[in-house]
Amino acid sequence: MDPTSLRFRWPWAAGLVVLALVGLLRYGNTLAIALESPQPSRSIGTPAEGDLQHGKRLPSRGSNFRAYSDLGALIGRNAVHHRVRDTVLEAYAQVAREMPEAKFVYGETGWPGGGSFKPHRTHENGMAVDFFVPVRDLRGHVQRLPTHAFNRYGYDLEFNADGRLHDFRIDYDAMAAHLRALQQAGKRNGLDIRVVIFDKPLQQALFASRGGAGLQHQVPFSRGKPWVRHDEHYHVVFVERG
Ligand SMILES: [Zn+2]
Repeated sequence: MDPTSLRFRWPWAAGLVVLALVGLLRYGNTLAIALESPQPSRSIGTPAEGDLQHGKRLPSRGSNFRAYSDLGALIGRNAVHHRVRDTVLEAYAQVAREMPEAKFVYGETGWPGGGSFKPHRTHENGMAVDFFVPVRDLRGHVQRLPTHAFNRYGYDLEFNADGRLHDFRIDYDAMAAHLRALQQAGKRNGLDIRVVIFDKPLQQALFASRGGAGLQHQVPFSRGKPWVRHDEHYHVVFVERG
């Protein structure tokens, strides 16, 4: 073969490989969802020691939300019980109607088959979801927290006691609307919120916000000190009713 033609083709081949990888990252999760079994999920045990059968992945994107990482979603770190999936999606749809400008990022949830989910200590039975705090910038414009490999997909971000991080401040009104929507959607899907784990001082700021007034009487919040500070995300645990 003429070596010059090989040299000519090489960039094309590399380009195609890159394109395939980008496509896989962007659409791999969607393809995996299309191939999921239609069987209902079954949650076994507890979030700290459990399993999940027929777990369902959350979509990577919607009109007002996205996953914390395309790579995380591609490899299936975004699976939950089908009732939790339906609850999460209905809640996003409800908040989209109430606060059309708000934008959300969900974090890690668990494997499609449940079980140990390092580095998390729980998330084993498809009933727990991490949600990154919705934020605005200092001018009040809605922003999305940057979640990528260099900040450990968002989990290394640290908000101060005033709910500030660089130019971001926590949008407590959006967070409260989201939690109320999760609780209502959960009820429709046969789920209760068992607990919301969120940094204690920031909980007070949430309850003191316009939208968060009375929220502590509607949604159960953790009272103890969690093993990691939950300031950049809130960890929501659902439980099947009855
Ligand atoms: Zn969590």
